[in-house]
Amino acid sequence: MNPQQLPGPLGPNGEFNTLNGLPIHWRDKKRGVTHKCEGADVQPGVRLIWTLCEIDTNAAYLPDPPDADPITCDACKART
Ligand SMILES: [Zn+2]
Repeated sequence: MNPQQLPGPLGPNGEFNTLNGLPIHWRDKKRGVTHKCEGADVQPGVRLIWTLCEIDTNAAYLPDPPDADPITCDACKART
């Protein structure tokens, strides 16, 4: 995702789950569900994003308003 987007509070391993104050979601067309994502800036300008159910994705996006796109992945919901 765009490295200009500002991460929210960082977790113990430098991970974040918001950008510009919005949650990070991924619409998984293959499975027909929406996942919740987190990410980390592993190097300057290198941002990795993955789902809470541990799928790497480079197609995550920021729903605005934040409740516009409910999480429907059961594995992600279980880890929220
Ligand atoms: Zn998921």
